[in-house]
Amino acid sequence: MKNTMIVGNWKMHLDVQAASLLVRRLHKEIKPHRDIEVVLAPSLVALQPVSQEIDRRVFRLAAQNAYYQDEGAFTGEVSFTMLRELVHYVIVGHSERRIYFSESLETVRNKVQAAIRNDITPILCVGETKQERAAGETTRVIHDQVTTALANLTSEDIEKVVIAYEPVWAISTFEGEVAKPDDIQKMLLLIRSTIAELYGQAAAQAVRLLYGGSVNDHTAGAYLALPDCNGALVGGASLNYQQFAGIVDVAYRQAHEKEEVHHG
Ligand code: PEP
Repeated sequence: MKNTMIVGNWKMHLDVQAASLLVRRLHKEIKPHRDIEVVLAPSLVALQPVSQEIDRRVFRLAAQNAYYQDEGAFTGEVSFTMLRELVHYVIVGHSERRIYFSESLETVRNKVQAAIRNDITPILCVGETKQERAAGETTRVIHDQVTTALANLTSEDIEKVVIAYEPVWAISTFEGEVAKPDDIQKMLLLIRSTIAELYGQAAAQAVRLLYGGSVNDHTAGAYLALPDCNGALVGGASLNYQQFAGIVDVAYRQAHEKEEVHHG
C-alpha cells in the first residue's frame, strides 16, 4: 500500500520567523504516522532554518521551485544540485509558475529531468485553466503536460515521480468554484492510464497521484477517498496549523480504515 502524502505549499508567504512559528505549532499537532508522509514546502529563505527545526520522523521538505542547470551564470537562480542535501522533493510546473513566470512545457520537462538527475523527487503539477476547460480541452491539456514532462525518463525514473492534478480554476478559490470528486477521479485515472500506455502498468501503479485545489479539512476526506488519489497538495490551508493538522488527521483516519479492510 502506498503512503498517503500531504504536502503544504506555503507559496510566497511566511518569513523565517513566521515559518519557524508555524513549524513549532505543527509539531504540537502532528505526530509521526507510519502511513502518512507530511511534506512542507517553505520559501527558499526559510528552507534551511526549517530543515534544522523539523523532526524528520514527522516532516519532509520540498522546495517550491529550482532551475534545471546544475550550476553556472544564471543570476538569481538556485539549482536542484544545491538543494539535494536539503530536500526530498521539488514542486515542478506549478500553475503559478507556468502562468506568472511563463514556464513552458519544455522548461517543465528540463526541471523534471534535473530533479531525477539529482536524486530529488519531482512533484509535477498539471492542470487545465478555466478557458481550456470551457473549450473542452481538458483531456488534451493534461495528456500533453504529462507526456512532455515525462519524456526521456525510464520506467524506473517514472516510479519516483509524484504528479499533482491541480485544475487552475480550483486553486485558492475559497468559497468559489471547487472541483467535484468524481471529475477529479476521472482525471487521475486519465493520468494513470497515460503513464501505463507509455511506461507500463507497474510504473503507472507505483506513481503517486495527488489532488490540489482549495483542499481544506472539510473537503479532504472526499478527495483522499478517491481510488486513484494518493494524497493532497495544499496551498492556502497549509498556512493555518489547525487546518493543516486537520487534513493530516483525515488522511490518518482513512489510512487506518483502509488497512483494517485490507487485513479483514
Ligand atoms: C497549491 O498551491 O498548489 C494549491 C492547491 O493551493 P490552494 O490549496 O490554496 O488552492
